[in-house]
Amino acid sequence: MTREPSNMLHLHPRLFVARPYLPPRQEFDKYLDEIWDNRILTNYGLLHERFRAELSQFFDGANVTLTANGHLALDIALHVLDAKGEVITTPFTFASTTHVLTWNGLTPVFCDIKENDLTLDPDKIEALITEKTSAIMPVHVYGHFCDAEKIDAIAEKHGLRVIYDAAHAFGVRVDGKSIASFGDVSMFSFHATKLFHTIEGGALVYKNSDLCDLYEASENFGFCKGEHVYIGTNAKMNEFQAAMGLAVLPEFDTLIKERKELTARYTEHLSDIKGVRCLANENPRVTHNYAYMPILINANSFGRTRDNLFQELAKHNINCRKYFYPLISDYKAYHGQFDSGLTPIAAKAADEVLCLPIYNGLSINDADRVCNIIRGLYNG
Ligand SMILES: *Cc1c(COP(=O)(O)O)cnc(C)c1O
Repeated sequence: MTREPSNMLHLHPRLFVARPYLPPRQEFDKYLDEIWDNRILTNYGLLHERFRAELSQFFDGANVTLTANGHLALDIALHVLDAKGEVITTPFTFASTTHVLTWNGLTPVFCDIKENDLTLDPDKIEALITEKTSAIMPVHVYGHFCDAEKIDAIAEKHGLRVIYDAAHAFGVRVDGKSIASFGDVSMFSFHATKLFHTIEGGALVYKNSDLCDLYEASENFGFCKGEHVYIGTNAKMNEFQAAMGLAVLPEFDTLIKERKELTARYTEHLSDIKGVRCLANENPRVTHNYAYMPILINANSFGRTRDNLFQELAKHNINCRKYFYPLISDYKAYHGQFDSGLTPIAAKAADEVLCLPIYNGLSINDADRVCNIIRGLYNG
């Protein structure tokens, strides 16, 4: 690698950890024309229903309830499945997973995660179950498949509900079937920064058709077939969101292909640097979505802390993210309520993790530049 003089750093464009994908403008405009023709902006319009049908097919024919965002989808799932008391979950996630519990008066009980993929450790769940436990809320973090068969079996044995936070896992398949085929329900986020998006948006995907009316009504003030049968919130997806979803969905395979190439490049160029561990998805059962590019920095071997690496990369205009730091149990908002010492693997991961830039439009050269800078910073 040729060293860049420091006065040339600004010639490189800023790299972000994630950037929203924008579909070809004509594709989106096509749907806008329909909105203008139909003059329906929300409340289960034509585009909403078409998008729902396409997603249902994408999810192997499962039921799909579209929502205004992923967080409200989790909120609805907790209500529909009548979660009460304590919910066993992971502290190594985005704020939403825990806040949706506490916001609803439920108590999160944090279970530690597995060292290999940072998903909930099923072997540590049963010790946390009490008579107040009503549900388990695991996260397919970075799109990594949780040990869902074990988790679902534990839930069944103890009569618990399972709500998968699959915000990162759109398009992930396990043994050829959709990742949404586990648990009672899976929540997907279509936020602009997620690999598939509807600007803001989300979906609940579930098999139990008996609950369709309740899921649908819960996001529309409890309104069902002309009557207020239930109590509900307002979390409907509008036609503009559905239009974006319809325009992005056909691009999905191409988007994944680009991300796969970037991931392979990062992994190839980083894996021989001491103290850098690429958190690649190695589960042979899983078709991955390459949603994120997390690495773990062992400060002793690498010769620098994760925080130091983060700052050095920022000097080169490379904006990474410490996803997920701090652990939720260490949030100021929860001061004094939880002990992150009880989830040591999660605590260690929060101190070591760094998510590198990965998005459609990021070039292989950009990834190489990030790798070269990291290599140059190795201080072992
Ligand atoms: C993005 C995200 C959410 C929330 O989704 P929104 O669509 O932004 O409301 C929930 N959980 C996780 C793990 C997320 O990354």
